Amino acid sequence: MTARPMPQPKPKGQPWNWPARFWAKVDGGEDWNHERCWLWRASRARDGYGHIRLEGRFRMAHRLAYEFLRDQVPEGMQLDHTCRVKRCVNPWHCEIVTAAENCRRRSRHVRLDRAAA
Ligand SMILES: [Zn+2]
Repeated sequence: MTARPMPQPKPKGQPWNWPARFWAKVDGGEDWNHERCWLWRASRARDGYGHIRLEGRFRMAHRLAYEFLRDQVPEGMQLDHTCRVKRCVNPWHCEIVTAAENCRRRSRHVRLDRAAA
């Protein structure tokens, strides 16, 4: 297990190491605070997650944000939103999980939602 590279240092507030075109589609508030949800304002896939067309193919917005500001997401792994907000692309609200774990969590949340209804 190797240590994760630290996120790139950023000038105060702005996640600048991605084309402005990407961040222009995100509402990060005034300060890009890690605590709040950064809401995707552009198009969304049928499953509700934000996506963007890059080099001819659609990429998931939260995954791109995670890879740029935090770390690579290994092949076959998925990102789970710990905040449960599908439009959120804040990489500090996402956790790398296996597909099986993500599926398990999702069914647990569905059960919780039903119980709350
Ligand atoms: Zn969030």
